[in-house]
Amino acid sequence: MKKIAMTTPLVEMDGDEMTRIIWQLIKDELLHPFIDLKTEYYDLGLEHRNETDDRVTIEAAEATKRLGVAVKCATITPNAARVDEYHLKKMWKSPNGTIRAALDGTVFRTPIQVAGIEPCVRNWKKPITIARHAYGDVYKNTEIRVSGPGKVELVYTKADGSEVRELIHDFDGAGVVQGIHNTDASIESFARSCFEYALSTKQDIWFATKDTISKIYDHRFKDIFQDIYDREYAPRFDEAGIEYFYTLIDDAVARVMKAEGGFIWACKNYDGDVMSDMVSSAFGSLAMMTSVLVSPSGVYEYEAAHGTVQRHYYKHLKGEETSTNSVATIFAWTGALRKRGELDNLPELAEFADRLEHATLATIESGEMTGDLARITTLPNPKTLSTKDFILSIAQRLK
Ligand code: NAP
Ligand code: MG
Repeated sequence: MKKIAMTTPLVEMDGDEMTRIIWQLIKDELLHPFIDLKTEYYDLGLEHRNETDDRVTIEAAEATKRLGVAVKCATITPNAARVDEYHLKKMWKSPNGTIRAALDGTVFRTPIQVAGIEPCVRNWKKPITIARHAYGDVYKNTEIRVSGPGKVELVYTKADGSEVRELIHDFDGAGVVQGIHNTDASIESFARSCFEYALSTKQDIWFATKDTISKIYDHRFKDIFQDIYDREYAPRFDEAGIEYFYTLIDDAVARVMKAEGGFIWACKNYDGDVMSDMVSSAFGSLAMMTSVLVSPSGVYEYEAAHGTVQRHYYKHLKGEETSTNSVATIFAWTGALRKRGELDNLPELAEFADRLEHATLATIESGEMTGDLARITTLPNPKTLSTKDFILSIAQRLK
């Protein structure tokens, strides 16, 4: 069989624990036999991040800017326990945080739908993608516990020294107060990432805030989105046959429950945090959720939404059999290969991505799946396969 050729390499970011095992299996069984795989390899496994003082993460992010498309394995974000476990020089930052900061991107999360894993919401027929703004608001807040009577004010000291003051509250007893912010630059790149992603996936995009109550803060988000849409995107949306519309967050929540899916829902940071958990669990499972970071300049980084599945890895290390779901990691690869195929005008590569996704879903639909899905499927008599056998079964179908 002739292997499919690639022209530009993908940026490949390897990772940790169970997902690192899955990563290698996917390459050996599902990619190398069919593609002349070209990647620029970066080992983001925790040991190598520690050896390189985390320079490898920055280099991988720089390579992504240069080459345009990356695929990333789940990685450990170190905490105190990991510092001991891996004898780390320091508690390195979250690689996803580092990459997001370098690419200035927005994260899009989409459930992978398959017959036999049914959404709780009956009328959801197509996936709903959540686009979450990943900067500011309550995630970068400043808070004060007010101990008793007194005045709290917002003070903006301009560069020239002049001041703008607004009374927050004149307390006559104890209470709490919170200051939050965002920047036009961050909101603008959020808006551009959303519009670019809508165009690239040919889906409508909704955006919603609470601008009726937050007449300056949330209103700024609404205005920036509208302004960028009108100036830069309206004709391209018309041409693509897709729509942008803004509505109040309450209205969006109500509409989402009645919709059939197939659109992108752009959310402010807090709304995106909360709503993506709701949407992913209502669709079935975190192990069936793709995630892509899109920068406003049109650079893409694909990954699974779940972590390194530590509990399964420790079982694997003890020599016990595991049944870890590789679907989201497979779809990270297919997402990246398809995008590379589109950008490099290699229809065969994009078609291969389609076929691999199809073979993966057909395997589940035939009743062969990993334990997490076997527990929730509506299919009769599901067969639970091990981590490796599930991937081998997909490979069989692909051949
Ligand atoms: P996790 O890896 O998402 O796993 C949590 C639990 O969810 C697992 O124990 C398992 O449940 C289930 N699960 C998740 N993915 C699964 C899959 N593919 N197949 C089957 N079951 C799956 O989260 P964690 O164990 O809390 O975190 C482990 C490490 O991942 C942490 O060090 C964290 O820093 C890192 N992390 C990385 C990323 C990323 O790189 N994007 C994201 C999140 C977390 P059962 O044990 O009940 O089977
Ligand atoms: Mg959350």
